[in-house]
Amino acid sequence: MTLQYPPRIELARLPTPLEPLDRLSEQMGGPRIWVKRDDLTGCVASGNKIRKLEFTFAKAIEQGCDTLITCGGLQSNHCRSTAILAAKLGLKVHLVLRGSQPEGISDGNLFIDQLAGAQISYYPPREYQQHLGDILIQLQQSYADQGRKAWIIPTGASDGIGVWGYIRCCEELKADFAHHRIEPKHIVTASGSGGTQAGLTVGNILHQLNATVYGINVCDDEAYFLHKVSQDLQEWRQLYGQKIDISSLNIQVIDGYVGPAYAKATPEIFDTIKKTAQLEGLILDPVYTAKAFHGMLQELKQGRFGDSGDIVFIHTGGLFGLFAQRDQIAF
Ligand SMILES: *Cc1c(COP(=O)(O)O)cnc(C)c1O
Repeated sequence: MTLQYPPRIELARLPTPLEPLDRLSEQMGGPRIWVKRDDLTGCVASGNKIRKLEFTFAKAIEQGCDTLITCGGLQSNHCRSTAILAAKLGLKVHLVLRGSQPEGISDGNLFIDQLAGAQISYYPPREYQQHLGDILIQLQQSYADQGRKAWIIPTGASDGIGVWGYIRCCEELKADFAHHRIEPKHIVTASGSGGTQAGLTVGNILHQLNATVYGINVCDDEAYFLHKVSQDLQEWRQLYGQKIDISSLNIQVIDGYVGPAYAKATPEIFDTIKKTAQLEGLILDPVYTAKAFHGMLQELKQGRFGDSGDIVFIHTGGLFGLFAQRDQIAF
């Protein structure tokens, strides 16, 4: 079966490597753990968002837009990727960020947003939460008044368009698995806005990976993500006239690893970051990948993934967010 993809702008460095973590796997004594290195989709525009944005940007440009509006936390990886890619393509970008403008020098993702020349508006968390939709629409209108055409990208580029990014990643995984002669039964990712999990979940079927996809949520809860993932997939189905029955898909959320809050991690998580860096030379971030990776190892110990075979962790990036929290790590 050949899948018809919508237009895409090549922005990511693909394919990314699939690598085994042999020392860690031996220590754990269970299935062999592999990492899909989507932290290597680029240097500064790295991580998982770029796969989705390849389709989102193509759509925005096709619609004749010259400006992009998107939103997220102060240390949003998605906003940073959008800001850099917009600069690369000569588009204007306006970020709506949750939080107040830091005094003094900015760090991590926010520093890069500024470096890339993004226009930034800051909103207190309460106002952001209650009025985000209106804020984005008003901004779009104000650009229209200036004679510009702005495209609004939702949080994390997770919508019916962005879903294509990880459907396409499944095609890559299919080739990776054949190359390494493995048949992993489990694929694990961090879930923050759900689009990565949505793409993997349907891509797993479309490309016949015969695995189960698990999203480990780093905010909200299981009910929220079951709903969000299927909503993104329903939108994808409608937009592109896809036949697949979304309610038949196996959407698996592993809840219980959010910790104190979104973007707040316990010492245990920082410990996982340190250990993984030292044992495997693999750098995780405290907002997404370390929480999901830690969750995966806990579940693995409890036998959820069996005691042999292969399991794949999608490394979704996030390095710059680690710099913004480096004072949390003790040496
Ligand atoms: C956004 C993000 C995720 C979550 O992906 P979603 O598609 O939003 O669920 C995971 N890891 C990193 C590093 C991210 O920036």
